[in-house]
Amino acid sequence: MTQTNELKQPTVLVVDDTPANIDVLVAHLTQENLELIVALSGEEGLSLAQQHKPDLILLDIMMPGMDGYEVCRRLKQDAATTDIPIVFLSARDSELDMEKGLSYGAIDYISKPFSIPVLKARLRNHLALKQKGDRLAELAGTDELTSLVNRRHFNQVFRQEWMRAIRNQSELSLLMIDVDYFKAYNDSLGHAEGDNCLKKIAQALLQGLRDPADIVARFGGEEFVVLLPDTDSAGAARVAERLRTLVQNLKLPHPGSANGGLVSISLGGATCIPNHHLTELGLLQQADTQLYKAKEGGRNRVCLEMAAKSQ
Ligand SMILES: [Mg+2]
Repeated sequence: MTQTNELKQPTVLVVDDTPANIDVLVAHLTQENLELIVALSGEEGLSLAQQHKPDLILLDIMMPGMDGYEVCRRLKQDAATTDIPIVFLSARDSELDMEKGLSYGAIDYISKPFSIPVLKARLRNHLALKQKGDRLAELAGTDELTSLVNRRHFNQVFRQEWMRAIRNQSELSLLMIDVDYFKAYNDSLGHAEGDNCLKKIAQALLQGLRDPADIVARFGGEEFVVLLPDTDSAGAARVAERLRTLVQNLKLPHPGSANGGLVSISLGGATCIPNHHLTELGLLQQADTQLYKAKEGGRNRVCLEMAAKSQ
């Protein structure tokens, strides 16, 4: 998922309660290789921002209900949205208004009426900075939402451990983890709660690992992956069951779950002694097949496979 970022058009969310203002912006920004999303209220803007995680938000200040300051404040408080640059677009043009807007964490403040070419130039600069920030975060190896290792960094560690296991002829286990009925969770409780849920699960998974060599990463969406070096299938089964129990014991209410109304995870695992005939991808696929079986078998459970040892 992260690999495609550079090819993707940047997404810009426009929030303004006056449809005519939105029309003007849309008319001028459509030539700009951007994906535009629009919201006509602060509440809608907040919810679309949480859902789409745009690369930039153009935010009006004076709106009935939730005003732009409040939208900005909430987005900045939430780890999942705090890095989205916010540009205020407002008819309020006093020094005090601008100072206030910027102190809420907005990256820029443009007063109306504004020059379209200047607005476009500023947008391009902010989007370029955002892209650099995203790239740095990815290179740093951290998943922004959960603070776990990201997929890119995981792949590097997996490669190193794989090579080490070949040299030492030691067993390597892998667990694929998926949150049960997560789409239903998001649909019924909203994306902000969904993000919170993922953060709590991430912490529980981290807590469940005992060996410093073990590593848990966010694999993407509601999927996690755990690598257990020097671990046989019995050891992997123990870790998997511990992780399943830890998440169950969080007792996070889940209105759409068939598992007692609580958030749960399914786990699939595979173990092998790596050699040059086997591949990392093969082990991942085996774990994934077991995860599928755990889902089919009713979720909130562990399925493990003893993969082929050296031929
Ligand atoms: Mg307004």
